[in-house]
Amino acid sequence: MTDYDITIIGGGLTGLSLAAALAPLPLKILMVESRPPVTDMRGWDERSLALGFGSRLIYGGIGIWDAVTGNASPIETVHVSEQGTLGSTRLTAEAVGVAALGHVVTLRDLATALEEKVVAQPNLERCYETRLVQVEADGEAATLTLEDDNGRREVATSLLAGADGGASSSRSLLGIDAASEDYGQVAIVANVTPRKPHHGVAYERFTRSGPMAMLPLTGNRSAMVWSLPPREAERVMALDEAAFLAELPRHFGYRLGDFTATGPRETFPLRMTLARRLIARRSLLLGNAAHALHPIAGQGLNLALRDVAVLAELLASYDDPGDDMLLQIYQQRRQPDIEATARASDGLLRLFSHHWPPYAHLRGAALIGLDRLPPLKRRLARLGMGFRKPLQGPLFHGRPLLSGGQPR
Ligand SMILES: Cc1cc2nc3c(=O)[nH]c(=O)nc-3n(C[C@H](O)[C@H](O)[C@H](O)COP(=O)(O)OP(=O)(O)OC[C@H]3O[C@@H](n4cnc5c(N)ncnc54)[C@H](O)[C@@H]3O)c2cc1C
Repeated sequence: MTDYDITIIGGGLTGLSLAAALAPLPLKILMVESRPPVTDMRGWDERSLALGFGSRLIYGGIGIWDAVTGNASPIETVHVSEQGTLGSTRLTAEAVGVAALGHVVTLRDLATALEEKVVAQPNLERCYETRLVQVEADGEAATLTLEDDNGRREVATSLLAGADGGASSSRSLLGIDAASEDYGQVAIVANVTPRKPHHGVAYERFTRSGPMAMLPLTGNRSAMVWSLPPREAERVMALDEAAFLAELPRHFGYRLGDFTATGPRETFPLRMTLARRLIARRSLLLGNAAHALHPIAGQGLNLALRDVAVLAELLASYDDPGDDMLLQIYQQRRQPDIEATARASDGLLRLFSHHWPPYAHLRGAALIGLDRLPPLKRRLARLGMGFRKPLQGPLFHGRPLLSGGQPR
């Protein structure tokens, strides 16, 4: 007999998305989060997230897309270029035959919509300022030791779902090794206002100091993500507002004109961490705990949502949430996608990290060449949008979990 069917460690976007996805299932769920509850949406950070079409479908199935869509900005075109070369390429929604390649949402809007959904969820209990400190598992249950200011307590759960981020305690407590690489870069994030309209274009610009993304936001703002070496990031963070705004077009160019306003700036150290396996006895990892990627291709949460959808759909059809077979299938279904997405993000970063002029000109020529290959561009666009095979189950098609009628 266990206290909970599932215990989710971590109440970030992955943990919240999993909890919300499991709302229709007859499961008793506990979510454990080490920070205090966010009582005001400003408690969430300044990040904005590009969500592919596939993620939009999953959030539609979970039932929160309607709550974010009003503030989501459609991506109609992706424009890729490199500073110092003439090469560029454009992927358009029209060429792929969809209204939008994806949408950009602020983390605040998304987290708030998820919080509003889970707060009313009868099958979910949440505890904050509580950390997972020990795990022991046998054939029947995983016994978790949780610690808060009042001391320690044990809970027995059929499944531990570790969604506690890149520095996951679940991962280390389960004895799962991870490959980890420090990129020697820091991402500066800020929402900035360009003088010209962005027309729904998401820009990826490879500058000499590092990649810079400008994602379209509502109110003609752009969500900037600029990855820089730590020293350079320190210098940019120390600039006053006017100097910061003046610096942007020198790296980004003038496609959006100059920049007239900026919100607060925030930094994120960048490291890739990939768990060597996703499962242990009565336990699994998902989201950044399984795979923390460089934000260059905006794939981290998109990938996490595919973890969530696969897991939720498996849980809908197994009586025991910690069943060995369920865990094996989860790992089999998720590992290839995780590896391919990590390779693509990492490869893109490395491709543009050599600044020797002949390399740069070759890349410029490759971008021009790609621009003239519509079938290849369409394929890349579909991958970026989150389409993967096999896409099984209702959530991948934007339908609620139980509408497909899976028995439990
Ligand atoms: C600058 C930047 C831009 C990005 N842009 C995009 C984008 O455009 N598109 C995209 O798809 N992705 C993007 N990402 C990636 C995306 O933000 C992450 O993949 C996503 O937020 C993952 O969230 P998570 O919940 O898995 O991890 P986290 O956000 O790290 O959450 C983990 C949670 O677990 C809690 N926790 C940790 N340890 C414990 C413990 N022992 N016990 C209990 N709780 C614990 C933490 O407090 C935290 O709340 C970006 C990332 C960055 C840094």
